[in-house]
Amino acid sequence: MRQGKSKIRGEVQGTFLKGCVYVEEKFYLILAKNSAQMLLINKLLRENGIETDLVPSPPESGTVCAIAIKIQGVNLEKAKNILFENQIEVRGIYEDKKMKLQGLIDKKLGASVSKEFLDILKKIEDGDELLEKEIVYLLSTKDIKEIESIYAAADRIKRETVGNVLEIRGAIEFSNYCCKKCKYCGINSQNKIERYRMNEEEIMEVVGYLNKIGLRTVILQSGEDPHWGTERLIQLIKRIKIETGMRITLSVGEKSFEEYESLKLAGADNYLLKIETTNRKLFKTIHPDGDFDSRLKCSRWLKELGYINGSGNIIGIPGQTIEDIARDILYFKEMGINMIGIGPFIPAKGTVFENMPPGDIDLTIRTMAVTRIVCKKVYIPSTTALASLSKDAQIRALKAGANTIMLINTPAKYRTNYMIYNDKNMVDIDSAIYAAKKAGLELPKYLKL
Ligand code: SAH
Repeated sequence: MRQGKSKIRGEVQGTFLKGCVYVEEKFYLILAKNSAQMLLINKLLRENGIETDLVPSPPESGTVCAIAIKIQGVNLEKAKNILFENQIEVRGIYEDKKMKLQGLIDKKLGASVSKEFLDILKKIEDGDELLEKEIVYLLSTKDIKEIESIYAAADRIKRETVGNVLEIRGAIEFSNYCCKKCKYCGINSQNKIERYRMNEEEIMEVVGYLNKIGLRTVILQSGEDPHWGTERLIQLIKRIKIETGMRITLSVGEKSFEEYESLKLAGADNYLLKIETTNRKLFKTIHPDGDFDSRLKCSRWLKELGYINGSGNIIGIPGQTIEDIARDILYFKEMGINMIGIGPFIPAKGTVFENMPPGDIDLTIRTMAVTRIVCKKVYIPSTTALASLSKDAQIRALKAGANTIMLINTPAKYRTNYMIYNDKNMVDIDSAIYAAKKAGLELPKYLKL
């Protein structure tokens, strides 16, 4: 469902001419009390012929990143009746308003930047959606004043949507076995590296530590490893839930709908499956055994199953253009992605891209800032890949729209073998706290240190 102007037939009074008038169509967001209710409401509405879309919840709803059900204004009364008839109470129904940001443009700025840039900034102030060519402009301008105002706008949108608090999550890379051949990735099946696989006890030991320091979310990431299949993962998820109650993010690649469903039912909350690039041709080149449509289908399934849906891309992958990146950003918005991981390409030893140059740090940070401007209330990690190229860059990203840091909690004896790219940095709790301080972000209240 595309937001925007809808065209209705109308008559021009006093003449015989029939014409078209454009009215701004209203959309509403229904916020359920929990994710099970959200899925139930979504199902009921669809069964009753109401078109719905699942999108990140509006800023005024409080909780960061819950999923809202978006409906057209014309269906509001019908939807309310369905809720009433089924005795479903909701947390709230909000009009899907544009986010206005008055005060981005002042006289001084007006005199020193281009007219084209000012027009784009005006659209951001008014909460209007940006076009691809405008996003390309923001990603490519070399003007220092313009770049500063892009970062300032992103920072302001971050504060007004997710707040000025750093979200910290702990990642465990529990297996580097992989059956895929992704050309850029250092743990791809073709690469001759030492392989490891953690067992449940080893994983639980790390989960216990993360829980002890107060973190709320553990990220379980691996290659596509058949020996850590869905059944085994279900046992692990259940155990983490029972013993710690932590939220669980899975990042274990492509699976069938039924597998995603059973992992969700077992207790998984979030899923990170990056689209990597929305350029189909480029996708095929870098994923010889992958298929763009399958990956897209997986991401849609995750959304329909009520996962907090993570995606993202790689900046500077050989063959990518600025237009590709602009289209990636529009895709994140259109898909209603909740968590967007944007990292620079880093060559990995032993891969065919081993001698390619790394992605540009500034372009990566700029992409994060523009993604914040376009997608608003989403999680944007200041990625490990960025920190691996430069510690300072990770801090800069946190000042330019990023709000999350993922700690790497893979045990030391395995960590060096999870080399998806060279010289992968170690992001620990101390460096996350340091980065938060340097970037002027508050630490989360849940941290127990
Ligand atoms: N098997 C899982 C997890 C992949 S690793 C999956 O398919 O989703 C997590 C992320 O690391 C990938 O999504 C990719 O964006 C990133 N990555 C892998 N190799 C990289 C490289 N050489 N440079 C930058 N990012 C890379």
